[in-house]
Amino acid sequence: MYTGTLFIISAPSGTGKSTLMQQIFKKKILNKIAVSVSHTTRSMRKGEKDGEHYYFVSKKEFKNMIKKKYFLEYAKIFNNYYGTSKLIVKKFLSLGFDIFLIINWEGAQNIRKRISNSKSIFLLPPSKKELHRRLQNRGQDSDLVIKKRMKKAVSEISHYHEYDYIVVNNKLKTALFDLSNIILANRLRTSYQKQKKNNLIKKLLNC
Ligand code: ADP
Repeated sequence: MYTGTLFIISAPSGTGKSTLMQQIFKKKILNKIAVSVSHTTRSMRKGEKDGEHYYFVSKKEFKNMIKKKYFLEYAKIFNNYYGTSKLIVKKFLSLGFDIFLIINWEGAQNIRKRISNSKSIFLLPPSKKELHRRLQNRGQDSDLVIKKRMKKAVSEISHYHEYDYIVVNNKLKTALFDLSNIILANRLRTSYQKQKKNNLIKKLLNC
């Protein structure tokens, strides 16, 4: 059985991480793709569903899970905890799925240390003006929060060079094409094909 690849995807809030991942599923562009649903202690926002956007847990529960070494990585951001379940990731990888973790640069650094063959993608907005427009249009944040997110975007983007791939999310269709090509090219690596096409290679080499 061949295992999948863990992909990290990072971008400033509002760039389009969730939109792109949703589109990959909706358009059924590639099979065997999964997104890891994180656990969080932040409160649920309008339109969010437990188990779909996040698993919403209390701080007490989260701290207990840390003690039990439940997380592959976790971080405290703006006074709330966010974490990735070891179990979910392992399960999908062992089933041959490529699994996506939507995490920030700090989480990405932790994952790279733990899973050396993970791949990371940084998503860039086409401009600051467009990022601001997307945050406003999304309608989730107050003006003050948007201002904070715009400021944080600069420090997030300054980590772009730590990533294996850069995708600019200008036109959604182009960004989707780029993202799919990264996943596809990764699946065509010799080290991966060697496992997946083991029987074919054996037969072809059998004189
Ligand atoms: P993130 O998950 O990175 O915080 P979202 O996926 O919530 O960002 O996207 C933020 C907003 O930008 C949403 O309203 C979404 O519909 C919009 N959006 C995402 N990608 C594009 C794109 N390529 N062109 C125009 N709007 C986009």
